[in-house]
Amino acid sequence: MKINDFPNHIQPYLIPEVTGNVVYRCLGCGAQFDIERLLYTCPQCGSVFLLVDLAFDRLKKIPSDLWHRIFDYRRMLNLPSLKGIYRYHEFIGPVIPLDAVIYLGEGHTSMVEANPYLQDLVGARFFFKNDGQNPSASFKDRGMASALSYINFLVRSEKLSDVLAICASTGDTSASAALYAAYLQPKVKSAVLLPHKKVTPQQLAQPLGSGARVFEIPGVFDDCMKVVEALSEDYDVALLNSKNAWRIWGQESYSYEIAQDFDYDMSHKAMVLPIGNAGNITAVISGFLKFFEVGIINHLPKIIGVQSSHANPVYRYYFEPVPEKRIFEPVQVRPSVAQAAMIGNPVSMPRVIQLVETYNKKAGCQAIFFAEVEEQAIMDWDLTANRNGHFACTQGGESLAGLVEAKKRGIVGKDDIVVLDSTAHAMKFADFQQMYFEDRFPAEFEITPKKSLQNAPELIKPKGLDLLPSAERPLKGKDFDRFVQQTAKAIAEELKLRS
Ligand SMILES: *Cc1c(COP(=O)(O)O)cnc(C)c1O
Ligand SMILES: [Zn+2]
Repeated sequence: MKINDFPNHIQPYLIPEVTGNVVYRCLGCGAQFDIERLLYTCPQCGSVFLLVDLAFDRLKKIPSDLWHRIFDYRRMLNLPSLKGIYRYHEFIGPVIPLDAVIYLGEGHTSMVEANPYLQDLVGARFFFKNDGQNPSASFKDRGMASALSYINFLVRSEKLSDVLAICASTGDTSASAALYAAYLQPKVKSAVLLPHKKVTPQQLAQPLGSGARVFEIPGVFDDCMKVVEALSEDYDVALLNSKNAWRIWGQESYSYEIAQDFDYDMSHKAMVLPIGNAGNITAVISGFLKFFEVGIINHLPKIIGVQSSHANPVYRYYFEPVPEKRIFEPVQVRPSVAQAAMIGNPVSMPRVIQLVETYNKKAGCQAIFFAEVEEQAIMDWDLTANRNGHFACTQGGESLAGLVEAKKRGIVGKDDIVVLDSTAHAMKFADFQQMYFEDRFPAEFEITPKKSLQNAPELIKPKGLDLLPSAERPLKGKDFDRFVQQTAKAIAEELKLRS
């Protein structure tokens, strides 16, 4: 719809202007820094940042029902820069002019309700939000659209030139970073560091295809992260890990979309998501908090962060009920099918600690919970979801296994409507499914396939046929007719079909 065709009262709000007064705020010492420069950690104390809009209170002057209409009408506007995460520009990028926005189709992923059979099996009403439908097939694109739009803005205003973007990755950050950097070539180039043999072949193919320099490093993600941190401290590079606070801002769009898809009614809702480096849960908490503070939503949903028992530092930290007694200790990770979340020392832990406290206080009760699940449960629930019409990745399976655990512990009640984050596309993790089907998991995974969930292709070669078609020698005439008849008959017998 064209701008002039919208109701008069909404027109002035539809296309957001550059506003806000955004700074990096250190979570350690509280110092604030100008955003004219790319900064990742505090020069004074070394802690991580969050971006803060010092003029945020201006957003509270707009009544909540007007906000609802602004976002709902924006849905109908054919302006690429507002079609993705920047539908919520005022909340996640008020200082970025729309002509600097990079839009590659990210955001507004589908929320699909589970079928009655699966809801009965789990004992809860729930949806999958399919964040694998983003352009590089994971939620990381939300944060990358934000970080690269900001870099693009700096490049255009000549505050930056010839950017080398780098990141460490469990596979999806590098795929996303390489994709967005490629869109901005030749001004922006990318280099990614991956733990050797700890990303799937599909994930490795992605940055290679986008033309990034790809470096494989011995060890696990946490080792790669240290190397990237050393590079970003000593050299002129743009760090694209979620340590970069712009990533967090973009990822907040996930919460805003869910609020909008529920017509801003967040009562009796619960969000379940996997935790790795803890950037995603930081963003989801922060997003709901901001909408709540402005009055766009009247309830803060429950948020349940899930970790595999093979990579569970956040779960362990919160296992101690007395806040003063909690001590954060990194863990040594073990192999996990939720490989994208296989992180022992999450960079965003200080953000999580601060935001969880604020969130629970504002909610007036405990609203954030942490659950632990076994590898077996992740795989079994992932396949069960996919057998019921979903296309969840293994991390999506982790979300579903987490919901089952949360039900068991009474965190999710019978009136709660649940949204599970399926953080990536199932195709990226197809090899784990194949390992399950073929019972090939090395012992460390602790996964024994259930017969009822296994599957395999069956080659049909009817007996008594000496001539079979091939690419080099196609069959013709009677031979071909005989082949078609016999093969159809063999399949019909397998399927016990009646004629
Ligand atoms: C990165 C990633 C995670 C973990 O998210 P964090 O923000 O690191 O906690 C989970 N699932 C997938 C598919 C990912 O790519
Ligand atoms: Zn500091």
